[in-house]
Amino acid sequence: MASHFVSRPVRSAAARTILSPTSGFIAEAGFTHSLTPARNCTFGCTYCYVPTLRVQGGLKPEDWQRWGQFTTFKTNAAELLGRELRNHQRIYCSPLVDPYQPAEEGERMMPRVLQAMAASPPGVFTLQTRGTLILRDLNLLRALARRTTLRVSFSITTNRDEVRRRYEPRCAPIAERLAVIRTLRDAGIETYATLAPLLPCDPEELARLAIDASGRDLIGDALHVRGVKPRGATTRDAALRVAAVNGHYQWLDPAFQSETIGRIAAAAKALGHSFTTGPSGFAKLAA
Ligand code: SF4
Repeated sequence: MASHFVSRPVRSAAARTILSPTSGFIAEAGFTHSLTPARNCTFGCTYCYVPTLRVQGGLKPEDWQRWGQFTTFKTNAAELLGRELRNHQRIYCSPLVDPYQPAEEGERMMPRVLQAMAASPPGVFTLQTRGTLILRDLNLLRALARRTTLRVSFSITTNRDEVRRRYEPRCAPIAERLAVIRTLRDAGIETYATLAPLLPCDPEELARLAIDASGRDLIGDALHVRGVKPRGATTRDAALRVAAVNGHYQWLDPAFQSETIGRIAAAAKALGHSFTTGPSGFAKLAA
């Protein structure tokens, strides 16, 4: 029987609204709204929590069944922002997709989003990304930073590039990501190195590299595991398989995770900085 399904990596659909009131982790951190410019993320990280949210993450079955294989851009995002933005909002972009995912290169949605933000600036706008493509929009980011509190939270998950290749093979090498943090910082953009989720790493070296690049306190979070988070979003099975194949079991153990966080915090302190996890860490992005 012929299938009616046609696989397309980049799709589009009009959204009814673009800003969502926050709940859970992001609300606890202090954000009032989230902005999600697309559904499904072409970085397709093995550990991504989003597909485990299923319909609660606004996904359709095909999204969680084929996570990372395609994305659906909300083509009218910038127009909707023109109507929905208010100056009291503290906006996190995004808990559900990386705004600078690989498909954004051809789509060029974020320049329109940043222009809409600059025209009607909210109180705080925070971009959460690991996409080096963000540098394409550096001039727009600079312009927006003059109009509102703009922050970039740039994900650095490990200092070991062979670990990065196993868990997030479509993301840029760690050295490139650290260089992007430095470039954003030099351009006057308030940029945090965000150690989340923490993958197998050398804790002290990771802290040193991240502080050296950002010049700021560190924030982050361990990989979610059911042992400490019995409900809600969690680590996708693909990462558990990578951990099993590579003998990384202890990195999923809550006690070992706490010890690692303690080592990073001690290393950060020795360098005159802090390392804070959970909503109180992410609150630095929303203040
Ligand atoms: S970049 Fe973020 S949203 Fe995208 S797949 Fe990776 S963890 Fe998930």
